[in-house]
Amino acid sequence: MEDVLADPTLCRGLLREHGSPVNLHDFSPLARNASELVEAAGSRGLTCRVFVARKANKSLGLVDAAMAAGHGIDVASLRELTQCLDRGVAPDALIVSAAVKSDELLRTALTAGVVVSLDNRDELDDVFRLAEAPAAVALRMAAADPRIPDSRFGQTADAWVAALGSAHGPGQGVEVCGVHFHLNGYSAQERAVALREACSLVDRLRELGHRVSFIDMGGGVPMSYLRSGSQWRQFWHALDADSDGRLTWRGDRLGLVDPDSERPSPALYPYWQEIVRGEWLGSILDDELDGRTVAAELVERGLELRCEPGRSVLDGCGMTLASVAFTKTSRDGEPLVGLHMNRTQLRSTSADVLLDPRLVRDPDADTPRQVDDAFLVGAYCIEEELLLRRRLSFPQGVSRNDTVAFLNTGGYLMHILESASHQLPLARNLVHTGEGWRLDDIDAG
Ligand SMILES: *Cc1c(COP(=O)(O)O)cnc(C)c1O
Repeated sequence: MEDVLADPTLCRGLLREHGSPVNLHDFSPLARNASELVEAAGSRGLTCRVFVARKANKSLGLVDAAMAAGHGIDVASLRELTQCLDRGVAPDALIVSAAVKSDELLRTALTAGVVVSLDNRDELDDVFRLAEAPAAVALRMAAADPRIPDSRFGQTADAWVAALGSAHGPGQGVEVCGVHFHLNGYSAQERAVALREACSLVDRLRELGHRVSFIDMGGGVPMSYLRSGSQWRQFWHALDADSDGRLTWRGDRLGLVDPDSERPSPALYPYWQEIVRGEWLGSILDDELDGRTVAAELVERGLELRCEPGRSVLDGCGMTLASVAFTKTSRDGEPLVGLHMNRTQLRSTSADVLLDPRLVRDPDADTPRQVDDAFLVGAYCIEEELLLRRRLSFPQGVSRNDTVAFLNTGGYLMHILESASHQLPLARNLVHTGEGWRLDDIDAG
């Protein structure tokens, strides 16, 4: 990212050639990120297989990078699945975790021999109807423990055991090979609880004759966008003290609850987290109950641990560049910097992106306009079309054709909510190769 930012001519050239915004990818950090998880499990005597959640980034370069590093892919739709199969991903390196599954998706997965994670009894019935041979499935477990928040996904262990019943025994349509769950949030403690509960569901399934070989603990592996916790806490304290509403667009509180809490706003991704990836997984596996660790529970049952990280393995893999279209002052005196970009191109389900962008001054640009601070606005004809809801400062000034770079956007931020409203085209995706930048195959036709 720093190499790109140090080359304003490159930034300008990429935007001229591919339009604004443009998403840049270099998936080389993925192997390092994922290996933290494999090593945390390995050092505790466990095999951990990583299935990268493809919904976090649609580029096919991600699929290639995961395959090259020996990892699998978690797919959430028919097209995500067929693109991976066409790309040469081995069926046993895929899992279908789609929240809603069409017959075509199920048929494609069953024919190829890809494990499907079933969410509910209707899907179990669908598999019975469609499978020509006993189908290997995972069951998505909704944890029943009250320490884990309610979720719309999966069914409780009791509900699954009842649904399987005697008619749904092994060899008669489905072979349950795994128990799957995915929890909202990033709590290590909740995952330790859910893993224990999944172990006891495995025991019940094995009593019914199923050869369960893995527990898939889903994603939600934390990462940190900021280098230090003080950056994070300082921001929340400043916002708390900002009684004039200067720091944010029209005084938006960004869901501020308590600036001293680890996670000041439930509406926002925690852009700084103390324990991430390998260390976080280690803390789950070391969690002890009655003198027994979670790792010991898994090892004793001979279970493989699987996980489906999205965002945290994409840490360092992507950035988004956009051109400055205009600078102006609104009627109420707010300086605005307009970008050739819309807010769905830098957005997750979080209320705002709390990461500072970088300004790359164009070498051929006019003398910059001096603005002390400004808000970034985008292309959708909506009043609230703010690219970021924080006021930004521009110490070197800013002018048309400068580049604004949004850092570390590879996990969700560039893709998960992008839309082509107003008939504006979606951003192109480029992947870095030894020779330079090429169009990712997701955009190549
Ligand atoms: C979204 C999702 C993931 C990935 O979550 P991250 O927070 O990106 O790690 C994994 N599994 C399932 C089932 C999901 O829905």
